[in-house]
Amino acid sequence: MPNRPSAPFDPVASLAAAKHTFGEHGGVNMSIEASTTYTVLHASVMPEIFAGRRSPDHGGCYLYARHFNPTVYTLGRELAALEGAEAGYCCASGMAAVSSALMQLVDSGDHIVASGTIYGGTHALLHDMWPKKTGVHTSFVAIDDLDAVEAAFTPKTKVLYTETLSNPTLVVADLPRLAEIAHRHGATLVVDNTFCPVMISPLRHGADVVVHSLTKFINGASDLVAGAVLGSHDFIGQLMDLHTGALMLHGPTMDPKAAFEVSLRLPHLPLRMVEHSRRAKLFAERLFELGAPVRYPGLPGHPQHALMRSLLNDGFGFGGMLTIDLSTRERAYRLMDILQNEHRFGFVAVSLGYSESLLSCSASSTSSELDDDAMKAAGISPGLVRIAVGYTGAVEDRWAQLKDAVEQVSLEPQLLAKA
Ligand code: PLP
Repeated sequence: MPNRPSAPFDPVASLAAAKHTFGEHGGVNMSIEASTTYTVLHASVMPEIFAGRRSPDHGGCYLYARHFNPTVYTLGRELAALEGAEAGYCCASGMAAVSSALMQLVDSGDHIVASGTIYGGTHALLHDMWPKKTGVHTSFVAIDDLDAVEAAFTPKTKVLYTETLSNPTLVVADLPRLAEIAHRHGATLVVDNTFCPVMISPLRHGADVVVHSLTKFINGASDLVAGAVLGSHDFIGQLMDLHTGALMLHGPTMDPKAAFEVSLRLPHLPLRMVEHSRRAKLFAERLFELGAPVRYPGLPGHPQHALMRSLLNDGFGFGGMLTIDLSTRERAYRLMDILQNEHRFGFVAVSLGYSESLLSCSASSTSSELDDDAMKAAGISPGLVRIAVGYTGAVEDRWAQLKDAVEQVSLEPQLLAKA
């Protein structure tokens, strides 16, 4: 993959050009293939599948639903088109995608360099669980400090891992330069693109593997948990190898009904992203004018605004995530309570990419796996409120609600005193 895209990538055009799968009776939607096991026309074909010489792509062969299911396979192909990947396969959760992709790339004793600001579950996996269970160790670095990234590599480093836009601090990863560093050391750049589907296509900027929590923007309805891994044919083939594949052997299989649901929602993902972004940018600009401590990559004052702009595909904005740093947990809780219980602006809930705005205090929720030092290094203050901006309600009504809540919290002297 080139480190700098030579031509702009259009994920909408790419998805539209992908092969359409019709339903069994010519239905416009694909069928849900519920069978867990598949017949072969001749017994001699089965050993060919086990040997990897036949597959959905080679000979149109299916064997068993944990290996490849036609409905799940179709969704993987659609997501690959959206990300500009050769291939993709879906699994039961974002964490299944993260852990399986990484597991495929490392052996006991190997080393990973990872961004210090990543989703708390991924941090716990790499920081706490894997050193004990697998002997794989991870060094965490500030991903915007390229010298620190470079210095963290050892001869054992197999993977450089980052989120495109970090959860929750919204630090932008310089993907072309990170790819250059990783490749110079013979390592694989794995990017979690959960916050930026459609907006940024990491494989176009030099990443080797992309993982997604489909649970978020891509599914967009907060009604199912799912994940995906996108990359080369070779890598997806390795993950699904019957004898050695991390997805195949750990078995975090996606239900075909979930695959069907997500596939139906893909065509309107770009429209949703445009509106998430439009509202988040408007709120961020107005919060900034109000003097609120807002962070949003679409603001010119964001330290990596220009970098983010250089990575974006045309037309989808800077995304739907913004943060307000209220310093203390008390003020963060107060803001969220007002927004949910006085104004019905959104819901106090983790996750993102829903139609309604979702509000969470990262330090005491989705980043609570980090210890105090890691939290400080990641720049997550106890009062950091993450807002995943939704698209329901009239924009001006929503802004009036947000403005009132921010003004109420900033004006509360007893809360300010604790700040
Ligand atoms: N990656 C990111 C950036 C996330 O925010 C999350 C979940 O919050 C995950 C991965 C894990 O995804 P899932 O909950 O689908 O397992």
